[in-house]
Amino acid sequence: KKKNFMEGMAVKFHEYSSKRVEPFCEHYGLWGGCRWQNMNYGDQLFYKQKQVTEAFERIGKFQFPSIQPIKASPQERFYRNKLEYTFSNRRWLENTGTEEFPDMRGLGFHLPALYDRVVDIRKCHLQPDPSNAIRDKARELAVSSGLDFYDARKNTGFFRNLLVRNSNTGDVMVILVVNENREEVFAGMLDELILSFPEVSSWMYVINSKVNDSIADQEIILYKGKGYLEETMENLTFRIGPVSFFQVNTLQSLEMYRMTRDSLQLNGEEILYDLYTGTGTIANFVAGKVNKVVGLENIESAVEDAILNSRLNGIGNTRFISGDIARTLTPELFDIEGWPDVVITDPPRAGMHEKVINQILSASPRKIAYISCNPATQARDLAFFSDKYKIELVQPFDMFPHTQHVENLVIMNLKPANSPGAN
Ligand code: SAH
Repeated sequence: KKKNFMEGMAVKFHEYSSKRVEPFCEHYGLWGGCRWQNMNYGDQLFYKQKQVTEAFERIGKFQFPSIQPIKASPQERFYRNKLEYTFSNRRWLENTGTEEFPDMRGLGFHLPALYDRVVDIRKCHLQPDPSNAIRDKARELAVSSGLDFYDARKNTGFFRNLLVRNSNTGDVMVILVVNENREEVFAGMLDELILSFPEVSSWMYVINSKVNDSIADQEIILYKGKGYLEETMENLTFRIGPVSFFQVNTLQSLEMYRMTRDSLQLNGEEILYDLYTGTGTIANFVAGKVNKVVGLENIESAVEDAILNSRLNGIGNTRFISGDIARTLTPELFDIEGWPDVVITDPPRAGMHEKVINQILSASPRKIAYISCNPATQARDLAFFSDKYKIELVQPFDMFPHTQHVENLVIMNLKPANSPGAN
């Protein structure tokens, strides 16, 4: 029982919904990741669409919002380019009681409510080959090394995480995370993996003895290979470092970026601000269609990636600035870099800070594209724009099949009465 709502658990089914289907994953129901697998894909899309409509009506108070039919993901399975597996000395026992002396070691995904347990994954339908085979081989080699799997309660145990990333150019990157520097052990393991998976283009490792799993603040050591991935979109090539952000569903992201760019009907003259630019993917993607792009982002290393990717693609009209957007997006910045004609904003789930909304409103760009992974905060934020802006397009995208998540693009135009020079 929470303050404003209660949560319940189904205890008995009298009749199943006609929409219910048999989940295709053997791990369904244990791990929290793909909860909607018991609904067929068409129905998943229906309910995602509904989520957007309801957020716009109830939270944004938009009456009869006109929302385009959601764009299905080009791939329903194996759509992810990144997975992180966790080694644990306490795997979840699925067949309770049937194993007499169960081996408790596992390599898989965290259970939602039990931070120290993992579901030992045997087949995941999220990332293409050779992701499953690499995980299985790594588990086998870790077991035969005789060293311990991580114990999250005690912060002991040698093997911690295994990250697998891949790209649409065929690059595969594997990062092994261990607890202490025993090179004789992990080097032997990596050498064996390298022999088994010649298609992997980067082998890396991290020594992480902290309590938390994050490796973003750790040194990532290149063991063999090139040390980055290359992802292509249209005529651009993006270089992605081991901890750099890139949208996980590349094909669907490209669809969304294209629709964003094309719906903005850019004429080549604009000054465009890309807020929450991350590694500058959108900024670089639209740079060829405008006069100048200014990308804002608070993670320094992401800004470095953004600058590198402009340089590698011969793009000379981008500027990237690091810092909290609530502080960097100011009239002083506009005076230096130019006042925005167009703003693209793609904030995290929490949406935009009120200060950011007010700065955008006072700059009065002609067009705004608001991309969001959370229609609820997006609808809340959009309500602030409704006096000055007219919504031209609401287009949901399914980036994450079999999950409850939905991505949503909104395009808005400045209403004529608010244009500079009116009255
Ligand atoms: N537009 C990017 C990704 C956006 S993800 C793409 O399509 O690839 C959201 C980004 O916002 C993250 O990179 C995060 O670091 C950044 N961010 C979150 N809060 C921020 C803030 N207050 N100021 C600046 N950047 C922020």
